[in-house]
Amino acid sequence: MTPDAPAPPRDEWQLEVVEAFDLTPRLRRVVFTAAHLDELHYRPGQALVLRMPLPEGGTGRRDYTIRSLDPAAQGLAIDFVQHGEAPASTWARRARAGDTLSAAGPRGRTVLAAQADWHLFCADETGLPAVAHLLETMSPGAPAFAWLEIDGVRDRLVLSTQAALTLEWVQRDGQRPGPSSLLLDCLARFTLPPGRGQAYLVGETSNVRALRHHLVARGFERGQIASEGYWRPGRIGGHDHVDD
Ligand SMILES: Cc1cc2nc3c(=O)[nH]c(=O)nc-3n(C[C@H](O)[C@H](O)[C@H](O)COP(=O)(O)OP(=O)(O)OC[C@H]3O[C@@H](n4cnc5c(N)ncnc54)[C@H](O)[C@@H]3O)c2cc1C
Repeated sequence: MTPDAPAPPRDEWQLEVVEAFDLTPRLRRVVFTAAHLDELHYRPGQALVLRMPLPEGGTGRRDYTIRSLDPAAQGLAIDFVQHGEAPASTWARRARAGDTLSAAGPRGRTVLAAQADWHLFCADETGLPAVAHLLETMSPGAPAFAWLEIDGVRDRLVLSTQAALTLEWVQRDGQRPGPSSLLLDCLARFTLPPGRGQAYLVGETSNVRALRHHLVARGFERGQIASEGYWRPGRIGGHDHVDD
């Protein structure tokens, strides 16, 4: 690096819990603070890689969406799905003020394609933080259609947006989260509006892949679909690029 070269963007963060509380029975918000948060420049929909303590010792990488960032208040929120006993899920359930976590990022390519004529979102609870944040940033009146999979009526969130949003909560009603045709069935019934659409598909990998294939069969081009597998049964951390 030459003496005058600008410093590379900061990528490492030492997060400290300020508070933690349940938004719904299955979604727990943890609010963190950290030094230099005013230098965290991200696009809504992007995530941090958390170094999550593991029961056997050491840490494992877990990706979590930046749900909100308030640089003035030095506060960053992450919403954790409560899916049972697993490192990140359990850590969030037990999180108390003063707990610390290392994080790296931001990372990720699920970001708004603002030039699209309309926007289509399909997600399960792991994608809810990304969809909620993207919706907050949309232009007034922008047409948006969302199918969001949750367990039951108590898992619904109030979503804030100026977009012209048509929203359907898709309830599992006790069925296990994971591979299913719940979101695909909704999408199959949807008449695509005129103009160029942009799709954002995030959640369980096999469901995301099925949704992507469906849209491709209906004429969507690669560039019109942001799709990423956020989890799948048996996978530990990580993510699946769904590009096929
Ligand atoms: C870019 C990106 C952003 C993400 N953002 C968020 C976010 O904002 N909030 C969020 O909650 N998740 C988010 N995820 C998903 C999250 O990273 C995974 O669910 C992760 O595996 C959870 O870690 P864990 O330690 O709890 O479970 P792991 O140790 O990774 O997994 C243990 C077991 O639990 C299963 N499992 C993992 N997640 C779930 C689930 N949601 N439901 C049911 N079973 C599960 C695994 O398949 C495995 O069998 C995101 C993923 C990516 C790639």
